[in-house]
Amino acid sequence: MNYNIAVIPGDGIGPEIIGEARKVLDKVGSVYGHDFLYKEVLMGGISIDTYGVPLTEEALETAKNSDSVLLGAVGGDVGNSKWYDVAPNLRPEAGLLSIRKGLNLFANIRPAYLYKELAAACPLKEEIIGDGFDMVIMRELTGGLYFGDRFTKEVDGVMTAVDTLSYNETEIRRIAIKAFEIAMKRKKQVISVDKANVLDSSRLWRKVVEEVAKDYPEVTLSHMLVDNCAMQLVMNPGQFDVILTENMFGDILSDEASMITGSIGMLSSASMNESKFGMYEPSHGSAPDIAGKNIANPIATILSAAMMLRYSFDLDEEAKAMEKAVEAVLQEGYRTGDIFSEGNIRVSTTEMGDLIAERISK
Ligand code: NAD
Repeated sequence: MNYNIAVIPGDGIGPEIIGEARKVLDKVGSVYGHDFLYKEVLMGGISIDTYGVPLTEEALETAKNSDSVLLGAVGGDVGNSKWYDVAPNLRPEAGLLSIRKGLNLFANIRPAYLYKELAAACPLKEEIIGDGFDMVIMRELTGGLYFGDRFTKEVDGVMTAVDTLSYNETEIRRIAIKAFEIAMKRKKQVISVDKANVLDSSRLWRKVVEEVAKDYPEVTLSHMLVDNCAMQLVMNPGQFDVILTENMFGDILSDEASMITGSIGMLSSASMNESKFGMYEPSHGSAPDIAGKNIANPIATILSAAMMLRYSFDLDEEAKAMEKAVEAVLQEGYRTGDIFSEGNIRVSTTEMGDLIAERISK
């Protein structure tokens, strides 16, 4: 079968890590009999340099007409790059916002998984880590506080700023469906996180999530207040499977969850729309400080490509083969610089890609 993938290498280490993800995908294709067809798209600083804007209409159309999008990262050295002192809509990161909006990517999925081999990098105590953790944070990405009306004005002689937090049933229902669908492919447990003891939007959130849960009788649903969830993540992270939450809570909780895995170079992410279409990218940025040196860790991007196979193409076995290959390489002691410790074998970006590709098998 053929799969059309729009590939956006972007800036900094983007082209290097995307190259390795493609290498591993190609190996999966040859082992399992699939053709992954790539169309390269410019976005970010490289698009500004070439076309004067961070994302052209044509680039967006190419992404829309593909089966999914694989993204490296965009942006330059914050504060020092030639793209820094320009209007906000002409900065590399504006390309990201435009493509998310243009593709209607309302569901952000971020796994937080602790590899046994990297447990030493986890800041939590051993007794808390226990058997490790493997969770997914499902964050609503296009509604809530970040998208509500906002203004600042003087009220009775005092400067007052207002941000509006609003959600409608449709926005809540579609993200809840995504969370339950993903739970069905995992341990079938959803914890919905809100602040229903205070916020009206959270009360509606809870009601709609409960309605959606009726269509997924195999999935266990429970609710947790966001302040408690922030605590539980560092007290007992092993209890979570899928965390479903709104935009701002998800923003904060997903950073907390990624922190406790101990390594930014390992974390994948996906943003999806109502269909199976998604944009897959590492959680980290373009790391300009190490760009062009062949030392970046390509694993987050490779794992993002695995998510693409699972969630957009329903190729679960192939996704598992990629994840197993990553685990095998870690077990054998191979590490890029960011996750290296005494006793391991230090490898470059391209060597890590080769090692993972070699270990793809049925
Ligand atoms: P960053 O994630 O790029 O880098 C933070 C630190 O982590 C750096 O020391 C970097 O070397 C290291 N690092 C990141 N990824 C790594 C990898 N795969 N292997 C080894 N080390 C890795 O964050 P930053 O420095 O705050 O941002 C740099 C640029 O990236 C900025 O322009 C920012 O706007 C952009 N950015 C883009 C995205 C995106 O494209 N989705 C996301 C975040 C930041």
